[in-house]
Amino acid sequence: MQHHDNFYINGHWQAPFGRERMEVINPATGELCASVPRAGEQDVEAAIMAARQALPAWSTTSAQERHDILMAAADEMQHRFDELRDVQVLTMGCPVQLAGALHVEGPIEGMRYYAERAFQMEEDERKGDVTLMREPIGVCSLINPWNYPLHQLIGKLAPALAAGCTVIAKPAEQTPLQDFIMAEIFEKVGLPAGVFNVVTGEGSEIGPVMSGHPQVDMVSFTGSTIAGSKVAESAAPTVKRVCQELGGKSPLLVTEDADLAAAVRLNVENVMANTGQTCDAFTRLLVPRSRMEEATRLAVEIASEQVVGDPNDPATTMGPLVSQRQRERVLDLVQRAINDGVELALGGVEPPEGLEKGCYVRPTIFTNVSNEMEIAREEVFGPVLCILPYDDVKQGIAIANDSVYGLSSAVYARDAEAALPIARCMQAGQCYLQGAEFSFDAPFGGYKRSGNGREWGDEGLAEYVEVKALLGAPVIS
Ligand code: NAD
Repeated sequence: MQHHDNFYINGHWQAPFGRERMEVINPATGELCASVPRAGEQDVEAAIMAARQALPAWSTTSAQERHDILMAAADEMQHRFDELRDVQVLTMGCPVQLAGALHVEGPIEGMRYYAERAFQMEEDERKGDVTLMREPIGVCSLINPWNYPLHQLIGKLAPALAAGCTVIAKPAEQTPLQDFIMAEIFEKVGLPAGVFNVVTGEGSEIGPVMSGHPQVDMVSFTGSTIAGSKVAESAAPTVKRVCQELGGKSPLLVTEDADLAAAVRLNVENVMANTGQTCDAFTRLLVPRSRMEEATRLAVEIASEQVVGDPNDPATTMGPLVSQRQRERVLDLVQRAINDGVELALGGVEPPEGLEKGCYVRPTIFTNVSNEMEIAREEVFGPVLCILPYDDVKQGIAIANDSVYGLSSAVYARDAEAALPIARCMQAGQCYLQGAEFSFDAPFGGYKRSGNGREWGDEGLAEYVEVKALLGAPVIS
């Protein structure tokens, strides 16, 4: 049982003003696994003021200094790899054999990625007579969800620190533990006091303070579209920059002449990873009508390979969902789809055999789904795939784009050349051709209600940067 009594504020482990606490439940067992303090407004205020006071010194450090601290933090993360992995197993239920690769390796690489980009802050750009210089935007509130707790923290924190910003971070209620480890890591590597502050609490209570406070210059939020729009509302009166990474209902379009087996395997494994709790998962598989039967058979076969069970068992490939609330939400959507007459090819609402106790659900596949149906429109955030037929590529693209979301998309055609014209038509922040892999160089973020702004890549750094134009400045060679 992990028990935390303090927040990390101004370089110290500070006792909260209030006495309220929050319990963290292990989703595999339903048992209490940790407890953390529940911040009130005064705690958040203290964290924001610490970040504000630390800003003048930190924002004027050299890029080399910031680079070195981020690199040292990455080395320390590597050193504490097992701990960072184990808290994802404990609080998220991620299978132990996958948790390191899925939740820790990327964040370490991401930290190093932005350490290198700190130098961009010192590179003035000349456009005609105009010199463009970059400055950190200031104090940033970072609000994170529970589905990739460390990855999402580092996707915000690393570029913010590389730019010279100071931050207040709030992890999700269900998954707070990696933020405490990161505070210990930054304390150890000598990050100046007040540059990184961590509070734990209820988003509905302290989220509005973090986003509305006049001493906060920017908010970066990842989570549901509803909470994301509330963040923007709270931020609007003080006209701060808001970066939102929100929901998705991303399509993968397979063409008639594609390698169907490869495309379906890619799609099913993508949707089932992290028990379906991935915002850019390809949860709508679009298949030519003539190949629906074959695609459904393949998808059922591949999804049946999943071993659902105890995340600590090395044989497990799919753990529980993060919470009972998330399980109820997923099962509710699955039940409603069944009631609506959607064709269920695999899974359903019964708990997997012998797994009645934790937050487990079955890998579920609906087929012959029409894009008008709720299950094809709502973000489920569970291991649920919809297979939809299309008659020609033009119609397939129209179906792919017929969504309020636009986070990601994918095309599987005969080859990359054939996929490219289709990829260009996808209304989404990303499009993966022929099963391409995640890249830190690819800016990640949404069109439409999937959000505003980008994480990762140079654009991910730009979120934390103000650009100043100097007119008539001399050219310095
Ligand atoms: P949520 O959006 O409520 O929680 C995400 C984060 O936002 C948490 O840290 C939470 O404390 C905080 N938060 C909540 N209300 C806030 C507010 N008013 N102001 C500021 N911060 C606030 O998500 P949830 O309720 O845990 O999950 C609900 C659904 O959201 C899921 O089923 C899924 O569809 C979606 N979701 C999407 C992502 C994503 O990465 N896109 C991540 C998590 C959840």
